[in-house]
Amino acid sequence: MKIPFLSLAPAEAASVLAAAGASPRHAARLRRRLLAGGDPARDPHPGFALPRRARERLEERFVWTSLRSERRLPAPDGSEKHLLRLADGEAIEAVRLPGAFTASACLSTQVGCAMACRFCASGLDGVRRNLTAHEILEQVAVLRRFGPVRRLVFMGAGEPGRNLGAIAAALPVLRDEGDLGPRYVLVSTVGPPATIDRMAAIGLKFTLALSLHSLDRDLRGELIPTQRGVEPLDLLAAADRYRAATGRSYQVEYVLLGGVNDSRADARELARAMRGRRGHLSLIAWNPVPGLPFARPSQAAVRAFLEVLHEEGASVSLRRTVGEAATAACGQLRAAASASA
Ligand code: SAH
Repeated sequence: MKIPFLSLAPAEAASVLAAAGASPRHAARLRRRLLAGGDPARDPHPGFALPRRARERLEERFVWTSLRSERRLPAPDGSEKHLLRLADGEAIEAVRLPGAFTASACLSTQVGCAMACRFCASGLDGVRRNLTAHEILEQVAVLRRFGPVRRLVFMGAGEPGRNLGAIAAALPVLRDEGDLGPRYVLVSTVGPPATIDRMAAIGLKFTLALSLHSLDRDLRGELIPTQRGVEPLDLLAAADRYRAATGRSYQVEYVLLGGVNDSRADARELARAMRGRRGHLSLIAWNPVPGLPFARPSQAAVRAFLEVLHEEGASVSLRRTVGEAATAACGQLRAAASASA
């Protein structure tokens, strides 16, 4: 099997180029061009500046990207969800969202997910494997072939906390060669607190997003069975420590599930827990997943929930659903693709 070019460390890439008869100095430019969305195979843009012979020799042993966009579902809001095929035949999803200064990509970190959140499509079949660092980089490279990506959110399939090694390897490359520094990267996790502490301890920097969903330990444990026994307030304390250690802000995600965690009392408890903390609340109405026993919250409930949080002085926003119009929730396109395969 051919080796993905972005799986090479910068120094390796330079010696590979030299061996193929190109200047090793092209390696850095080539990596940048790939991460910017260029494809030397299809579009031998002058920026690649590889002699033809050298390119052909490289293409005998290497692929510029190992994953490809197999299906693209554009939504009226301009977002597009991609079904990306990996070299071993597995599939993941990634979404590109438009925006003048905020064009962003929602990336996966695993094939499937082991967290088993009861309301989420990504974990329906468990986890198949972790993505490698170059597969994380290649999601950016491939999505940028379709349009700009200025921010990343690791909110696609998978639990970043279970694949920190690959994320830790990809982030410096994204920062140095992909124009995506810590201010432009958000990583979402269900915890536990030790995972968040580990992120800080190994020096990762990004905006942390904590999937909280409830302050009731037992209810949260029902919703996220793999996180049973985790005390929600301990998670918030870990997010505060992350903020103190990295100087980066954090946000708290709360998926509103109709009749489950969307009452005024829930809102008040959430506001109380956030008091004195510097985290921002990001609410989202549950995006229906066929077959799962939840309901979208009523508009009145969402309004009342927000109202309570505003009254209590919380920093809060209601997030629009990513890629909603075309594809609904995370994991559904992949689930549909494997069902029809
Ligand atoms: N495993 C990580 C990152 C992936 S999920 C985490 O859980 O944080 C990213 C966010 O999408 C999480 O907050 C998750 O709870 C939320 N989510 C999953 N399914 C959803 C759905 N059907 N509707 C709305 N949000 C959903």
